[in-house]
Amino acid sequence: MPTDTATRIRLYRDYTGASHQAALDAVRSATHGIPPANTPEQAVLEAQLLAEFGRLGGEYWAHPLGISRVWHRPTGLAIWLDSHTILSSGEHHPASAAIVDGILPYWDPDSEVFGIPGLRVAGHRGALHLRSLCGRGAAVTLYGIQGTPWRQILRDRSAALVESGAVPLWNEPKLTPSEIDHLKQFPDVGANRKDIAWFGSGLLRRINLLYTHIDAYSAHAWVTEDRWSVEFSSSQTPQLGHDHFTTMLSDTSFGLPLQVAHRYCSCLTSQRYPAASCRIEMRIPDLTGSVDLRFQHWASEQTRERRGLLHQ
Ligand SMILES: [Zn+2]
Repeated sequence: MPTDTATRIRLYRDYTGASHQAALDAVRSATHGIPPANTPEQAVLEAQLLAEFGRLGGEYWAHPLGISRVWHRPTGLAIWLDSHTILSSGEHHPASAAIVDGILPYWDPDSEVFGIPGLRVAGHRGALHLRSLCGRGAAVTLYGIQGTPWRQILRDRSAALVESGAVPLWNEPKLTPSEIDHLKQFPDVGANRKDIAWFGSGLLRRINLLYTHIDAYSAHAWVTEDRWSVEFSSSQTPQLGHDHFTTMLSDTSFGLPLQVAHRYCSCLTSQRYPAASCRIEMRIPDLTGSVDLRFQHWASEQTRERRGLLHQ
C-alpha cells in the first residue's frame, strides 16, 4: 500500500474517476485501496448493475459502459452517468433513460419479470436512489448530468409499460409474487450468483480503469455459468494497452487479487492492422469464477469521429 497521501489520492482517482475532494475523503477514511462491497448482497446488486450496464447497447459512449465515475460510500455505491450514447444509426439516446429502462423491474403477465428483481426507487431528488429488497441495506445512487428529470423519466417509463400491458414494480413495498416466483426459478443464475459477484462489483468499483488505460468507447459485459466476459471496443491503435489495464486491475494495493491464466495478443502481429483482437483470461486462485477480457481495436474514421462528438 503506497503510504504517501498524494500517491494514494492519485491512484484512487485513476481507479474511480472521483473528484480530488472525494478521493481525499476516501483515502482518509479507508483502510483498503478500494473498499469492497460491505455485504454479499451489496456485491450482488453491483454485479447485477454491471451486467445491465454491459447489456445496454449503445455503440459510442464518452466513457465505456456510460459511467464516468464512482464513489464508494459506507451506505452503498454512487455512480455518475454519461449524458448520452450514440447508437450505430447516429441517433442520440440519454443514458439516464436507457439505464432506467434496463434495471427497474417490471412484470409482463405474458412472460416474466424483467430488470433487477427486488430493486426499488427510494427517492429521486437530485439523483436516483435505489435499494434492493433482496439484501440487507444494499443500495446504489445514480447521478445523471445536471438537471436530469428523474421524476419525469420514471413517469414516462411507467406510462409506457402500463400501455404495453406490463406492471411496473419499483414502487412496491415488498417483493411481489411474480418476483418471488422469478427468484425461485432463477435463484443463482448469471449476475445473480453470489459466488462470482466479487468480479462484477470489483470492476464497477474500479470503473475508471476502462477509461484511463484502454480508452474504450463501448463495453459489453455478460455472465456464462461461472465466467464473466467483458468486451471492450477501443479506437486506439493497438499498443498493448490491455497489459497496462490488467496490471492495474490486479495491483496488490488498489486492484483485485487476479492472476493472468491465458493471454492471446495480436496487437503487434495482426495482419488486419489497424484492427486487432486480444483476449486475456484471469482468475483468483482460491475463488470460483474466471474473467474473460476481450479487447477489440477498431481505429476507423467513424469511431474517431463519433468519439470526438461525445467529448465536445
Ligand atoms: Zn494485444
